[in-house]
Amino acid sequence: MQTLQTKLLILGGGPGGYVAAIRAGQLGIQTTLVEGQALGGTCLNIGCIPSKALIHAAGEFARAQAQASGSSPLGIQVQKPTLDVAQTIAWKDGIVQRLTGGVAALLKRQKVQVVQGWGHILDGKTVEVRDAQGQATHRIQCEHLLLANGSLPVELPVLPFDGERVISSTQALSPKQLPKKLVVVGGGYIGLELGITYRKLGVEVAVVEAAPRILPAYDAELTRPVQARLQELGITLYLGHQVLGPAQSKGKTVGVEIRPAGAEHEKDKPQVLKADQILVAAGRRPHTEGYGLDGLQLSMKGRAVQVDDQCRTSMKNVWAIGDLTGEPMLAHRAMAQGEMVAEIIAGKTRHFQPAQIPAVCFTDPEVVSVGLSPDEAKAAGHEVLTAQFPFAANGRAMTLEDTSGFVRVVARKDTHRILGWQAVGGHVAELAAAFAQSIEMGAHLEDVAHTIHAHPSLGEAVQEAALRALGQALHV
Ligand code: FAD
Ligand code: NAD
Repeated sequence: MQTLQTKLLILGGGPGGYVAAIRAGQLGIQTTLVEGQALGGTCLNIGCIPSKALIHAAGEFARAQAQASGSSPLGIQVQKPTLDVAQTIAWKDGIVQRLTGGVAALLKRQKVQVVQGWGHILDGKTVEVRDAQGQATHRIQCEHLLLANGSLPVELPVLPFDGERVISSTQALSPKQLPKKLVVVGGGYIGLELGITYRKLGVEVAVVEAAPRILPAYDAELTRPVQARLQELGITLYLGHQVLGPAQSKGKTVGVEIRPAGAEHEKDKPQVLKADQILVAAGRRPHTEGYGLDGLQLSMKGRAVQVDDQCRTSMKNVWAIGDLTGEPMLAHRAMAQGEMVAEIIAGKTRHFQPAQIPAVCFTDPEVVSVGLSPDEAKAAGHEVLTAQFPFAANGRAMTLEDTSGFVRVVARKDTHRILGWQAVGGHVAELAAAFAQSIEMGAHLEDVAHTIHAHPSLGEAVQEAALRALGQALHV
């Protein structure tokens, strides 16, 4: 067993851990990163990147199919398209490999020592690394321990994962072949991003969501165009339904029993949905077990490790970032926290107090929310001005064949300071940068309204929303 000493020891090489390591390396901090699986974590290997690759592939396939069926208003005609799923997955895996290889190269350039293996915490300054067989390979002593262990999919006790018929997003992102029918449990981020993807690839999809509407994390007005598109795509929705458990299944078919939620339905006969696979996407939980974290007896916030606004835990020189610290479980939050912790250890004064953390859901159409929604702004005690600009009045949206949706701005009525932006529509994920910058920089409606925006672009809808809030819209 090798014994190592380091200043900063990071557990987990996901977006939180690897960004912290790169920044620490840049700042001259001696850094060791321990990763049990692949560098890049959930996001690069089994999350953000592979899902967006498949979303793109499915969109291309659906477009080609629409063209083949003669329904392209553009006059494009193609022969009946076919799909080589193995090639699609190989393409997706190629992107993942390029990115994870890039992370390894960046860490090497910053002289970060990467130790492959599973870190087991012995105390706040000592970690033992074990290989896949559980054999100890390294004992590492550190001055600072940074926990970036990420999250795991929530398993439903009534419908446990078996990796084949009841699967998580991890298996859904690497299918060997596509099922004919898929039941998705959970109409949140993963359930809808992947449910839409599978539907566009030709799979019959049903989504069971416990809440009365899809994407409950976003406001209802924003998700309405997504719900309309789900109907157009032929995805069956069971809103306000609870999953009771598996139903008797025959051969390769798997069944799931569902019933409307609420005590008044408890005597109702359950409905059985049959499928070839069930994707359970009912949330993710911080990864806190199996590596000695409980031995540190850190203060917790629910299932997450509690941290202050510098990502310090309740134990001196033990830090935590990313999904391990709870919601919002987003890669860009983990990265921002990781960068900050490295800077604090290097002696800089930093606090994690962002004015906003953008949320983007890559459904069809895409949904973006940055800062406060109208209801959140009112609940925070603000008198607000809100205005929407529809993509139906935006030339660029017409040329991109997607006029569903709108941009909405929320601002203080007294000062016109912008508090929030929301958008739903094709390609709106790319507007998140402009939204985030305007809020971080404290922009007012007039700043955006009087900025010349390129024509034709979706950004003009952003300018028009600000103009409309001022009562000066030009194109609506
Ligand atoms: P993780 O990325 O989970 O990394 C933790 C790493 O720690 C893992 O590699 C794990 O192997 C390692 N590890 C854990 N314990 C140990 C140990 N004891 N020893 C050694 N290594 C250990 N977020 C977005 O912002 N945008 C998206 O589009 C998006 N899409 C997603 C799609 C899917 C299907 C999923 C599942 C998630 C998605 N997310 C998305 C969420 C995003 O992946 C996470 O928020 C992000 O990965 C969190 O980063 P992290 O560094 O905290 O943890
Ligand atoms: P989620 O919280 O977005 O959605 C889970 C959904 O499942 C909720 O709507 C919930 O009401 C529902 N649900 C829970 N238990 C249920 C049950 N028993 N029966 C029916 N419905 C049930 O979680 P997710 O979709 O699993 O994604 C996990 C996390 O990963 C997200 O919260 C997000 O942080 C991250 N993620 C982000 C992106 C992105 O940024 N584009 C994409 C995918 C995942």
